[in-house]
Amino acid sequence: MTRDDILQAFDRMRVWQRGDQRAVHKPLLVLFALARVGAGGTATMDWNDVEPHLKQLLEEFGPDGSGSSRHHPFWHLQTDGLWQLEGPTTILARPPSATPTLTELRENHVRGGFPPGLQGALQRDPQLVATIARRIVDAHFPESIRSDVLAAVGLPADLSATASLQEQARRRDPAFREKVLLAYQYRCGVCGHNLRLGHQPIGLEAAHIKWFQARGPDVVPNGIALCSLHHKVFDLGAFTILPDTYQMVFSQHLNGSDESAGRILAYHGASLILPQSRDYLPQPEFLDWHRKQVFKSPERPVS
Ligand SMILES: [Zn+2]
Repeated sequence: MTRDDILQAFDRMRVWQRGDQRAVHKPLLVLFALARVGAGGTATMDWNDVEPHLKQLLEEFGPDGSGSSRHHPFWHLQTDGLWQLEGPTTILARPPSATPTLTELRENHVRGGFPPGLQGALQRDPQLVATIARRIVDAHFPESIRSDVLAAVGLPADLSATASLQEQARRRDPAFREKVLLAYQYRCGVCGHNLRLGHQPIGLEAAHIKWFQARGPDVVPNGIALCSLHHKVFDLGAFTILPDTYQMVFSQHLNGSDESAGRILAYHGASLILPQSRDYLPQPEFLDWHRKQVFKSPERPVS
């Protein structure tokens, strides 16, 4: 496989294959495997060693409930030509759609990894590993949490520092940020943060409600002005916004010491600080997407 063949093979996998639904299973497994190659790991990994990591990665960065299908990419990545399994023929000879159960993979110690040719090419070219990892993380996660994803799989967090190729390829509205910040009068929609240095806002960002990576448009009703902290917390799914009341509801999974959790949970049940015109209000279809694809349910009860 040449370098270009390899990049193309991974690029085909980068595509979101299920419309609006976030499909992060394969990307997370591939990132995990790339990190292992980068660290000089063995070519194939026992499912029993991979499983706890993949479960945790999906719980942290996948849509709600995606951890229950954590074994799917270990099997389905074969059809992309990027993965090879070792184990009993009774399992390996099955048609691609006949995904083995978790128990079958565990008990038979099925092993998986990049095919030898690909593994060798990656081992010889650390720069290629970095390029593939960066393309995958850029294609599937918003900038606010990319370094968290990379760190969680064990890759250097600065891989995604350069501008995303996909984002360059698909035109972004350069005025999106400015329009959203103006709509929210240069304040965080959660906490009202509006620190400035001269005229320059500090730590204030235009968040996409429906991610750019999920084809969320660069329009003000798909944006909210958020401070860096609340942007990250929103993109990780620790809270979402109800479409009818614009109330912020937090996840039961969010926790911390009294002080740090208390500071953020003080906004639970409160209304978003609304934009200055009704035309800018977050649109229900984008809020619904965030709730289904990003928010970590269950929500805390609102008193
Ligand atoms: Zn804030």
